[in-house]
Formats: sequence, C-alpha cells, structure tokens
Amino acid sequence: MPEDRLELLIPEVAVQAKIGELAAQINQDYAGRELLVVGILRGAFIFLADLVRKLEMPVVVDFMAVSSYGQATSSSGVVRILKDVDESVAGSNLLLIEDIVDTGLTLKYLSEYLRAKQPADLRICTLLDKPDRRKVDFKPDYIGFSIPDHFVVGCGLDCGQRFRNLPGIYIYHPGNE
Ligand code: IMP
Repeated sequence: MPEDRLELLIPEVAVQAKIGELAAQINQDYAGRELLVVGILRGAFIFLADLVRKLEMPVVVDFMAVSSYGQATSSSGVVRILKDVDESVAGSNLLLIEDIVDTGLTLKYLSEYLRAKQPADLRICTLLDKPDRRKVDFKPDYIGFSIPDHFVVGCGLDCGQRFRNLPGIYIYHPGNE
C-alpha cells in the first residue's frame, strides 16, 4: 500500500515569525486591557501556547472543546460543545483562538454562542484560513496565513489525531492519492 506523504507548506521559522507579528498587533490593539484567551481544542493548543507567551497584557487562558459531525476531513456544521468555557465571559475582552477556518461553520456557531454570553469585546484569531472553502460569510479578525484549498497538518492540526506535533505546516497527501 502506498505511504501517506507530507509536503512542507510553511516552515517552522515562518510560522514563528508570523505568530510574533500577530502578537505585536494584538499587544497594540489591546494595550492596557486584560484578555480572556480561549482556545478551541484540540487543534489550537500549540498556536495558543506560542501566541500567549508573546502577549504583554494580563492574560487569562481557557479552552473549549467542540466536535463537528461529518466526514473526517470536512465539517458538517453541526457543532457540539464538549467542554464550555469555565471563566466568566460577561464583560471580558475575549479572544477566541482557532487553528484553521475552513467552511467557517464552526466559528460562526461558536462566535454567536459566545456573543450571547455578552463579552465586552469578541475577536477571532486563527493561524490558518482557507477562504476558498467558506460556506458561510465569516471573516476572522486576525489571520496568520491564508492558504489554498489543501488539507494541512502540523502546529496542532491533525489527520486522524496524527501530526499535531510537527513544528511546520504540511500538506497531507494520502497514500491512495
Ligand atoms: P470549519 O467549521 O469548516 O471552519 O472547520 C474548522 C475545523 O475543521 C478546524 O478547527 C479543524 O479541526 C478542521 N479542519 C479544517 N481544515 C483542516 C485541515 O486542513 N487540516 C486539519 N483540520 C482541518
């Protein structure tokens, strides 16, 4: 059986440089304000860890876990909240951290869900964006890289729970492709 193949798309050094740029922008935009940073598990854990270490304002970190039903590599848009935020969202400056925005269904649902909890401010920060795949009108506030329509792994992103630990971003080519 042919082997799966990984093709480097964004090297680690470029990912880290981009996270530095995003952090600088967020530091400027939220100067003097406390941030509630909420990562979407599991994919956002590495990006969040890298980003928050570069933030200069007081930061509280929390996580949500969601699952979407459907095929392994595409989102059905039905979002089930497996773990909600533990921190109080009302009145907070909430920065939601995602690994990748694909159809936009997950984040559209989550941002509406969180907005109902009445944060003072809600913005979305994603490491990767695949704008060509969008099914709903949704634009993150902070985007690391806009990429073409490839299935990618690394920096927290997985394929069947593998490859999250890779320090760069790779296009995943299945062995049968
Ligand atoms: P959306 O609701 O279609 O925007 O889906 C977002 C979620 O789908 C992400 O949080 C990922 O878990 C998953 N996803 C979408 N594209 C990829 C990819 O290229 N690699 C790994 N996971 C992906």
